[in-house]
Amino acid sequence: MKVLVAVKRVIDYNVKIRVKADHSDVDLTNVKMAMNPFCEIAVEEAVRLKEKGVATEVVAVTIGPKAAQEQLRTALALGADRAIHIETDERAESLAVAKLLAKGVEEEQPGLTILGKQAIDTDNNQTGQMLAALSGLPQGTFASEVAVDGDTLQVTREIDGGLQPVELTLPAIVTTDLRLNEPRYAKLPDIMKAKKKPMDVKTPADLGVEVASKVTLLKVESPAERKGGIKVGSVDELVDKLKNEAKVL
Ligand code: AMP
Repeated sequence: MKVLVAVKRVIDYNVKIRVKADHSDVDLTNVKMAMNPFCEIAVEEAVRLKEKGVATEVVAVTIGPKAAQEQLRTALALGADRAIHIETDERAESLAVAKLLAKGVEEEQPGLTILGKQAIDTDNNQTGQMLAALSGLPQGTFASEVAVDGDTLQVTREIDGGLQPVELTLPAIVTTDLRLNEPRYAKLPDIMKAKKKPMDVKTPADLGVEVASKVTLLKVESPAERKGGIKVGSVDELVDKLKNEAKVL
């Protein structure tokens, strides 16, 4: 079974986000970029399926600028066998990404396609769902456990207040939640080997998909600065401040 994994290049989660002076967008100048954490979990799960002998090949795919090849090389170092880069400098919205991934699913015919539940830059949480709809495939979103059983896939979904086990007929789409696994770190020899693994580069036009944005980003604002805390001298003073200043009692 072939597993296709979608990985997105985003600002590293440790970086404090800066907004451009004109508020037109987030400032990406000299900012450390990384693989979206939920995509790391997706790659890890695919590689584990290969290690278990369930998957035969793991293919990583990204849509983004040339620099996004860094994240594909990371996926290759973590154990993916080959990569597909769909190169565009446009801000690709979820629907365009899902259409491009659907072309990938059509061409590659994976038994399983794994995405993150959410990209931490735009927090859309919709690409996997759109891909499932466009490809006409069943979806198991927010997965905290997956197990392949012949032609079916058992997925434990994390839902509000509990877990929801579902069974999908393969081929299927899965989106990863935080507790699915703990991704490994790439080892130096694997990083070196990854440089020689195959990477196919295409454009959205090669796949007949229009990427031009249909949503206009109007403004980006930083969250309000938090005021520093203070130390109070006594419980009485704390209660007084909670009552009379914060007015929460
Ligand atoms: P989103 O719906 O944007 O929150 O993203 C959910 C998941 O869709 C991500 O974790 C990725 O697996 C996939 N995805 C979103 N954008 C891209 C992209 N540009 N390239 C590859 N995969 C993507």
